[in-house]
Amino acid sequence: MIDTQNIHVQKIENSKIGQVDFNNIPFGKVYSDHMFMADYAEGDWKNLNINPYAPIEMSPANPSLHYGVSIFEGLKAYKHENGDVAVFRPDKNLERLNFSARRMCMPELDESVYYDGLDTLLALDKQWVPSVPGTALYIRPFVISDDDYIGVTPSVNFKFMIITCPVGAYYAKPVRVKIETEFVRAVKGGSGACKTGCNYGPTLYPAQLAKSQGYDQLIWTDGREHKYVEESGTMNLMFIINGKLVTPETGDSILNGITRRSVIELAQAWGVEVEERKVEVAEVMAAIKDGSLQEAFGAGTAATIAHIEVIAYEGKDYTLPDIAKREFSNKVLKELDDIKYGNKEDQFGWLRKI
Ligand SMILES: *Cc1c(COP(=O)(O)O)cnc(C)c1O
Repeated sequence: MIDTQNIHVQKIENSKIGQVDFNNIPFGKVYSDHMFMADYAEGDWKNLNINPYAPIEMSPANPSLHYGVSIFEGLKAYKHENGDVAVFRPDKNLERLNFSARRMCMPELDESVYYDGLDTLLALDKQWVPSVPGTALYIRPFVISDDDYIGVTPSVNFKFMIITCPVGAYYAKPVRVKIETEFVRAVKGGSGACKTGCNYGPTLYPAQLAKSQGYDQLIWTDGREHKYVEESGTMNLMFIINGKLVTPETGDSILNGITRRSVIELAQAWGVEVEERKVEVAEVMAAIKDGSLQEAFGAGTAATIAHIEVIAYEGKDYTLPDIAKREFSNKVLKELDDIKYGNKEDQFGWLRKI
């Protein structure tokens, strides 16, 4: 059912779907047929429309290009066995998009614009939600400036867009991570808790350096002392230490991940003790050495759960316990997948059916 009351829909003439090999999808390179767009001008969201996916025009003086005035989200839609399409916790993404908007002097999004856009776009491109096990449709909502003014000042015109791309089965390989003690991602008082473009560009160089040293990702530490572990690239960081789920508390410098929150809520429902607090690098290293660290993983929309196999610190690699023996992270990964793919009752009300 496509509600076109508020949205002007221009359908594509010839769908590109026939050209896609759903068994072999390169991440982030294949986009579905349509995109959603709305304009913000004179204090209101307006001109809601869906068009064939295509390049957009903008002024070369657009502040998003020069100063990182942009915010984004990442979420996924899953195909169920009965053909239903369900989006995982989109309400949390809207909340976080509006949190980012306030920090970046950008307008908050109306709930109706967000859901009308999301629902109509997904209904139109429903066949783009892949059904091969492990695959999903990645959804990227974002807001950019639409000003033609190069001054460093809040913009007045904006564009909200949603683009989507099918993504392949993400068989998350266990990762090797390096505890970063030189470069900084975020600090107290900064914008690290926002999904804003300007947080990611500066992480590419330290991540590339870690890659060249044989690591998949970094574990960022606090920007003042490099004393506390914070998070990992695009995933939050979680540990099982002495049977407890221990994770750095969120704040200015740690992204408030929806996967992280979901893992915590499941752990609590299962009676697992959860500690959200500052976690010292020294504590993690001591727990590795005395054997009380049982599991370590990253939590994020892309991989859901990425087991950490090796942690490097001060030039030395530490190998963590056998992945097969990691009871909690394996169980929570399966539970989240079962809920997302509709194989288990959605008892928390996390799914939005399209
Ligand atoms: C998006 C993101 C996460 C994970 O958040 P989810 O909502 O679970 O996808 C973690 N850290 C950073 C820096 C991110 O950008």
